[in-house]
Amino acid sequence: MTSGNITLTIIKPDAFTSGKAGKIIAHLEAEGYAVRAARVMRLTEAQAGEFYAVHRERPFYKSLVSFMTSGTCMPMVLEKAGAVAALRKSIGATDPKEADAGTVRKLYAESKERNAIHASDSDENAARESRFFFSEAELIAAK
Ligand code: GDP
Repeated sequence: MTSGNITLTIIKPDAFTSGKAGKIIAHLEAEGYAVRAARVMRLTEAQAGEFYAVHRERPFYKSLVSFMTSGTCMPMVLEKAGAVAALRKSIGATDPKEADAGTVRKLYAESKERNAIHASDSDENAARESRFFFSEAELIAAK
């Protein structure tokens, strides 16, 4: 895995409920991201709780875990030069009302919580989050 060129995204359950998951993948591919690993799954409460542990003390934590376990999601490893910063820009602000035009969240998110997509916020977290969902064998394509 070349640090700096990969990031971890999750297409969140609201995007599957609204039938927008495919459009989001197409949007990302059109912006030059290559899918290197992907899984369609439903998170357990333990997985969602651990993934968002950094937010454990926040008032929205329980609601976030409940949302993230409410249906299908799709973790993916994406590759592009400068992937972490690029994807944060591509997805837009946490709240779609504040997201720039043309960003994934502006186009496809419902609300600040049901906001369609996750993206790692650092190279270190991209590596850690990729290993959270994928085995070393599955990450070989991203090397
Ligand atoms: P991100 O990096 O833009 O995804 O935002 P954060 O890391 O701050 O928050 C993680 C996730 O928690 C967000 O993507 C939202 O799904 C959810 N979230 C963040 N802030 C709020 C909030 O104020 N209220 C609610 N209900 N959910 C929030």
